Amino acid sequence: MSDTNTLTAASRRSFIKAAGAGTAAAAFGAVSLTARAASDIKFDAEYDIVVCGGGGGGLPCALFSRWLGNRVAILEKAGSVGGTAAKAAFWYWVPNNEPMRRAGIADPKPDYMRYVARLSRPEQYDPSQPKLGLSDWEYEMCEAIYDSASPAAELLASKGALVYRHEATVPDYWAELPEDKAPRGRVLFPKESLPSMSDGGRVAIRTMSAAARRDGIDIKTGYRVQKVLVDESGAVIGVEAMTEEGTLFRARAKKAVMFATGGFTHDPELRKNFLHGAVYGGCAAPTNEGDFVRISSALDVQLRNMNYSWMAPISLDKAIAKDGSLSGIFTPTGDSMLYVNKYGKRVVNEKLAYNEVCATFSQWDGAKGEYPNLTLISIWD
Ligand SMILES: Cc1cc2nc3c(=O)[nH]c(=O)nc-3n(C[C@H](O)[C@H](O)[C@H](O)COP(=O)(O)OP(=O)(O)OC[C@H]3O[C@@H](n4cnc5c(N)ncnc54)[C@H](O)[C@@H]3O)c2cc1C
Repeated sequence: MSDTNTLTAASRRSFIKAAGAGTAAAAFGAVSLTARAASDIKFDAEYDIVVCGGGGGGLPCALFSRWLGNRVAILEKAGSVGGTAAKAAFWYWVPNNEPMRRAGIADPKPDYMRYVARLSRPEQYDPSQPKLGLSDWEYEMCEAIYDSASPAAELLASKGALVYRHEATVPDYWAELPEDKAPRGRVLFPKESLPSMSDGGRVAIRTMSAAARRDGIDIKTGYRVQKVLVDESGAVIGVEAMTEEGTLFRARAKKAVMFATGGFTHDPELRKNFLHGAVYGGCAAPTNEGDFVRISSALDVQLRNMNYSWMAPISLDKAIAKDGSLSGIFTPTGDSMLYVNKYGKRVVNEKLAYNEVCATFSQWDGAKGEYPNLTLISIWD
């Protein structure tokens, strides 16, 4: 297994160059690092904030930027906004949320911090330390979620962009951990989603994109961002996108460019080189092809957690067929199903949280020199 965090920027760049060679993605290798005066670049449009990607991260990011008074654009590669989030159930995890507070469900910050620190960095976790064993930025990131998630959810709701409902009985994935002092009540759902909650993502994307249009965000679909434009001082001044029709579009960003372009599920090279074990595909939106990995490598920014993905078991047939309707097998219903490996051996607790089940698929048998669990077969009574 290779730990991608140990790659130097230079070796990562050469890898990416090699990975892109001869493929359509090679265009991303041409990211301009040449310092240019802003006045030399002809821009097609000017904004304060340009958000790249109109999915689960990009839409709220654009809305918050707009509500702070900025001129905002979303450049979205697909023909419509939504990305992977449009497929999601869209349960969103908001510690110490408003309905919890109203219902008197206590969720104190120190307990929350211990819970997320233990799960985020189990190998570093030390409850006797002031920062629980986390680095400064890791600690601040966890704090930011506690401090900002509820105000963000309330703002989205008050603006009609994402109105939620709350069901106080929904448990956390690790509700049994002693650190979890608020094991139920942190999850919110889009209000209009079906009782099965399967369409939450479609609802959330519909209401957030309607609010974005209503409030004057310029949404451009069919715009694949491929380059970050940098001036002679090294400051980011905009982006270049390729439209579906094959024309170049350059957007100036007076304040910031934000990337929310998803992961690299649908780039087999990136999957093979950053993740361990065989991953046959995934249920992210097909446009999640790791574009930002290539764009950011030319900017020499630090990538994190490249060796980890949040996973769910998927149907192998659909993954190989690249079936866009592919979804995760999140919670097998009933008590009459076992997963067995190719030796017919039961190897996992099927009722673990779905991401935890997936660790079993990539277990290596050092004695046999093989992955015995790469595909599991579900046996139903
Ligand atoms: C079936 C399913 C159920 C899920 N359920 C939940 C859930 O209940 N709760 C939860 O928290 N998470 C859930 N998830 C996960 C969640 O959907 C993702 O974590 C989330 O959508 C990630 O947001 P994102 O903005 O990073 O990526 P996305 O939502 O995929 O958005 C990325 C966007 O960027 C665009 N893009 C890509 N490259 C470019 C480019 N070069 N230029 C411009 N645009 C680009 C893509 O087309 C896409 O629209 C689920 C996922 C699946 C598949």
